[in-house]
Parts: sequence; C-alpha cells; structure tokens
Amino acid sequence: MSHSPAVLITGASSGIGATYAERFAQRGHDLVLVARDKVRLEALAARLRQEHDITVNVLQADLTQPVDLATVEARLRDDARIGVLINNAGANHTGNFVEQTPESIEQLVALNITSLTRLAHAIIPRLVQAGEGAIVNIGSVVGLAPELGFTLYGATKAFVQFLSQGLSLELSSKGVYVQAVLPAATRTEIWERSGIDINTLPEVMEVGDLVDAALVGFDRREGVTIPPLHDAASWDAFQAARQGVLGGLRQAQVAERYRNL
Ligand code: NAP
Repeated sequence: MSHSPAVLITGASSGIGATYAERFAQRGHDLVLVARDKVRLEALAARLRQEHDITVNVLQADLTQPVDLATVEARLRDDARIGVLINNAGANHTGNFVEQTPESIEQLVALNITSLTRLAHAIIPRLVQAGEGAIVNIGSVVGLAPELGFTLYGATKAFVQFLSQGLSLELSSKGVYVQAVLPAATRTEIWERSGIDINTLPEVMEVGDLVDAALVGFDRREGVTIPPLHDAASWDAFQAARQGVLGGLRQAQVAERYRNL
C-alpha cells in the first residue's frame, strides 16, 4: 500500500462526506467517492481533480441496495490502492419509533448499520494483511443519549460506536486504526432531508470545523473523537464508569436485590 493511500468515502456527495473529500484531496490523496447522486459526485470529482492534481473515481451506489453494496464491497476487497475507508453515509428519521413504517426501519438499518458494517468487513482482511490502514466510522452523540428522542437513529449510532471500539481492540495490534467520530448537530443537508428546520436548533457546528477537528483526532490516532465535547475528562470518566459496571458483575450469582426474600 502506498504511503499516501487512496481514500474511499461513502456519502461523499454532500455534507460531512464531501468535506472529508475536500480535506483528503488537499492532503494529496486519491479518492473514490460513493453516493447515489452521480451528478453531484462527478461535479465534486472534476473540481478536486483540477484543484489538487489527484485521481478521483466516482462509484454511484445506493448502499441500501444489495447489488450496489456488493459492488462497493468488491472495490474495497480488490483495489489495493485504497487504504482508508470513511464510513460516512447515513440518514436520520424524525418521529417516534412507533410512527416508523417497517420499510423506513429497514431502510435506516440497511444504511446506517448493515452497509457500514459490511464495508468495514470487506476492507479489513486486506488492511490486516498490509499491516496498515484506517477505518473511520461516523457515529453521533445521539448514540449516547436516548433522552434526545431519536430512538431508532440513536440506536444505529450506538451500534456504530460499539462496533468501532470493538474493532479498534481487535485491529490496533495488527496496524489497522479504527476511529469513531461522534458529531453533534452539524450544518448539513441531513436536517432538511429528515424534515427538521435547522434554524430551530439552538446550536449548530459548521461542517468544516467538524471535519477539521475529526482529522486532528485521526492524526492523533484517537479511538473516539467527539468534536463538540469540551471536557475530555468526562469521556474518560464515562469509560471508567463503564469498566466499573463490568467489574461489578458476578456471573454465577443473582444480585441481592433480585432474590426472593
Ligand atoms: P448529508 O449531507 O445528508 O449527507 C449524507 C450523505 O449520505 C450524502 O452524501 C448522501 O448522498 C449519502 N446517502 C444517503 N443515503 C444513501 C444511500 N442509500 N446510499 C448511498 N449514499 C447515501 O448529511 P451529513 O450530516 O453529512 O451526514 C453524514 C453522516 O454524519 C451520517 O452518517 C450522519 O448520521 C452523521 N451525523 C450527522 C450529524 C449532523 O448534524 N449533520 C450529526 C451526527 C452525525 P446521496 O443522497 O447522493 O446518496
């Protein structure tokens, strides 16, 4: 693998993904841009080729469609130039869980969980063999907060965080870096797409600031990067509390409070 590996970015036609494309182009990386909107991808690719003298390929894919997903998986498996996967494509749904249709549940899980997981699974064997490479999974602070009311979306993002932390434990000793990025509200089209007026939100981060901060975490090889979290020690305390819960488990014995007295 080259020391400036190509980067495959899903959801590269807008928002966070398009900004990652811009930033990796500035760093001189070749790119593979994935999303459904081929016109937007081609326009971004043409501009980045011209401005940065890099190779940019466009791969049109609806990641909820098995045939398209398999095409992107094959690209990740077979194209030895690709050393970084930015697993960014995702969507949000408004409304309570009971208001979702079976179809909308299926779609959200297919995009936010199944495609992200399968794309990571497709590239990992090659990265492990090379002993280098990186996977960036875009989660959300909503995955930490059932209180926020985006129950299904938050559950998909909690999955992304868990998967990333688990993969990091499995792969770091093999030279493969895995990062979970947890944005809070960021100015992109996701809000309009899911029927929420961004102007009703009290605070919004600009997308360039979000991606630049995520890349600071990337360069430091941080496992979980939360750009809007100002008190880093609170994350460490959260992880320590989780370890404390694990330390309090006694597998063979029911806890006192559940015993019939
Ligand atoms: P966005 O501007 O709406 O971008 C979403 C991207 O995903 C687009 O490029 C879209 O492209 C692509 N996409 C959507 N459905 C797809 C499908 N079925 N197949 C392939 N690509 C698909 O929103 P964003 O904020 O940048 O979202 C990027 C990630 O950040 C998501 O995972 C989101 O959950 C996460 N996030 C965002 C925020 C926020 O406040 N913005 C906060 C936390 C986490 P096409 O329409 O061309 O397919």
